[in-house]
Amino acid sequence: AAKRAGGSTFAFFEPSMDHDAREQLQLQHDLRSALDRHELELYYQPKIDGYSSQITGVEALVRWHHPTRGLMMPGVFIPIAERFGLIGALGGWVLDEACRQLQIWQNQGLRMRVSVNLTPQQLQQDDLMDRIHRAVTRHKIDRRLLTLEITESVFMQNKDAALRVLTRLAQDGITLSLDDFGTEYSSYAVLSEMPVHQLKIDRHFVMKLGTSLKAEAIVDGIIHMAHALNLRVVAEGVETEEQRDTLVRLACDELQGYLFAKPMPADRLTLWAMGDDTVHGSPDFR
Ligand code: C2E
Ligand code: MG
Ligand code: MG
Ligand code: MG
Repeated sequence: AAKRAGGSTFAFFEPSMDHDAREQLQLQHDLRSALDRHELELYYQPKIDGYSSQITGVEALVRWHHPTRGLMMPGVFIPIAERFGLIGALGGWVLDEACRQLQIWQNQGLRMRVSVNLTPQQLQQDDLMDRIHRAVTRHKIDRRLLTLEITESVFMQNKDAALRVLTRLAQDGITLSLDDFGTEYSSYAVLSEMPVHQLKIDRHFVMKLGTSLKAEAIVDGIIHMAHALNLRVVAEGVETEEQRDTLVRLACDELQGYLFAKPMPADRLTLWAMGDDTVHGSPDFR
């Protein structure tokens, strides 16, 4: 409702806008206590090696078990966390929890990497390096097993500052992954300057594989370019065998998507990674 062009004064008087605003305030209030009340949980979605079909790592995806609204998705509450200054605390918890779980898996003999998503705002926060160091040190994990997923939009506001932070992270041995590649800024100049190690092809290209030769040509081009730049390529949102076969044929390094597994709680992921065929997905989609 608030999106009416130039109509912020109108929107202000709209009852639905009023409702949205109240809803947001209520949620940010609830979110403030969610950390203390242990209502947040990390789900994990595997990444699969295109050649060996082995699990290479997992992506941590945060969930909120809201006391009355049930399971809430990050697309809803991450923007609220950002808007109300809660993203630092939330992101810090995610980093710590992901590292704690990675240490458990290492002890169980599961050789995996873990990736954590960061918003542009998180990348701009002064204490990000501190939070990462604290999480890594506290759980005694090898920082080379930690990947941070960022999107191209981190370069839209302050490119130089973003470049500085990413360079420090890379020097620290942390792997950097460019998430949702192809959907946003996509400046090739930026790609050549940036210290990223991995590129994730956005789901919207993957989705069209098999039905659109144009999409296939674009994916083929992205993979060639990435390999020429020494980047590993991960495809997200792989849902069909046809998409998988096409991606493997195009030499995509790693695959991720519902075809293999949906995001799931840590204990289920452990069973899945240990080869329990009965574990397929998460309660998200039941
Ligand atoms: P993302 O990092 O691009 O994550 C991929 C999203 O696609 C996830 O949604 C995942 O559940 C979903 N997905 C995976 N495979 C498939 C598939 O085959 N088909 C389809 N249709 N979807 C698939 P989710 O978990 O709702 O997360 C949405 C976004 O929220 C993430 O996008 C990420 O940007 C953000 N996010 C999630 N967890 C965190 C977090 O801990 N911190 C931050 N800052 N952002 C997070
Ligand atoms: Mg991601
Ligand atoms: Mg993505
Ligand atoms: Mg995304």
